[in-house]
Amino acid sequence: MFDVLIKNATIITMQGIEHVLYNAWCGIEGKYITYLSENAPENTEAVRTINADGDILMPGLINCHAHTAMTVLRGFSDDCTLNDWLYNHIFPAEAKLDERAVSAGFSLGMAEMLSTGTVTFCDMYYYIDKLAHLADRAGMRCFISNGILSFDDDYEFEKDRAVIELKKLLQDDTLSDRVHVQASIHCERTSPTTAWDSAVSLAKEKGLAMHVHLSETAPDHDGCVKEYGITPAKRLSDHGVFDIPCVAAHCVHVTEDDMKLLAQKHVTAVHNPVSNLKLASGIADICKMRDLGVNVALGTDGASSNNTLDMFEDMKLAALLAKNKNGDPAAFTAYDALCLSTVNGAKALGLSDITGKIQCGYEADLILLDTNKLHRVPMHDPMSCVVYCLGGQDVYMTMVAGKILYENGVFHTLNPYDAVREVKEYVMPLISEK
Ligand SMILES: [Zn+2]
Repeated sequence: MFDVLIKNATIITMQGIEHVLYNAWCGIEGKYITYLSENAPENTEAVRTINADGDILMPGLINCHAHTAMTVLRGFSDDCTLNDWLYNHIFPAEAKLDERAVSAGFSLGMAEMLSTGTVTFCDMYYYIDKLAHLADRAGMRCFISNGILSFDDDYEFEKDRAVIELKKLLQDDTLSDRVHVQASIHCERTSPTTAWDSAVSLAKEKGLAMHVHLSETAPDHDGCVKEYGITPAKRLSDHGVFDIPCVAAHCVHVTEDDMKLLAQKHVTAVHNPVSNLKLASGIADICKMRDLGVNVALGTDGASSNNTLDMFEDMKLAALLAKNKNGDPAAFTAYDALCLSTVNGAKALGLSDITGKIQCGYEADLILLDTNKLHRVPMHDPMSCVVYCLGGQDVYMTMVAGKILYENGVFHTLNPYDAVREVKEYVMPLISEK
């Protein structure tokens, strides 16, 4: 007997470009997909049967670069340059955030992600020991890291808060297998090489992947070249950062040689188009990276520079920007955009055999999308409909590892209204304190 049986669904499986099933059935037992076909199973007995009524069932989205707790800084200091935004506004505001404030923002962000179809996210922030447990309780799949960031001349790895939090979390054996811990270097410009060397050896010793920001802005990239004569990618690579599985956010200003290096080292470039446009950082050349063999995934970045965690916005924008950067509407298709936020994200995080596709044996990380609203009709092509027409607001069911976490406005594992109240009543006054 199935735990959940979804029928009459238009299923975008992401098993291939043409692989869409119509009036199809998807059966889930425990956390796994055990039935997938346009024909009904012999036995349709199920604890819960959902009639999708022609709506789209697809893999849940994978947000490969987020600072989820930054929802508390949504709309804070918009419309200024990245360096002004980061150093004069964001860093001072973040210095005021305590564990309670970060937890509230993180819970709010997870609720936003679940309600807009994200099932897995790759996060970089503080208080990771607390955040890992919040994510676990919410039932999401996540990768947690605290990026090493220090301008101290006498930097000491063992005394770094990011390292202390990481080591504490590594000793925690109470987390489920959905929650993963990563090592992280904030970026080439914001930490010393001694920190990278220590982080790499710790990551190797503990089998951790790495999460970094890479060549996000021209000053970031050019500053490194001017000072050291090599690019940030080359510099990080020379210190072994790419010798372990790595996701590199942004990659807006990477050179062709950098792209070849990323491909050779199997580093995933995470495209963050909304954030990059909003901060006028530039437009990453994702077609060129793809063509040179780089795995390209998608992320929202923090809500402070986006200002939502709705992956559908980034997915559509990624496609539109790539078409225009190449002067060719065929250069990047709706299917390509779907790959960024599903299979490529799974590959980036080492989860290619677990999530990112609808396939028997995979874990059931699924979303249902309403296609019957007036502005969605008719649906000539389901993939085009998802990328160019639908948005996060059209998601009405989000399932992670076989469990429905969100359905029709109701959250089953977290209370976003508590988080909203905390953000308004506790965090907002904290941020505005002089
Ligand atoms: Zn970021």
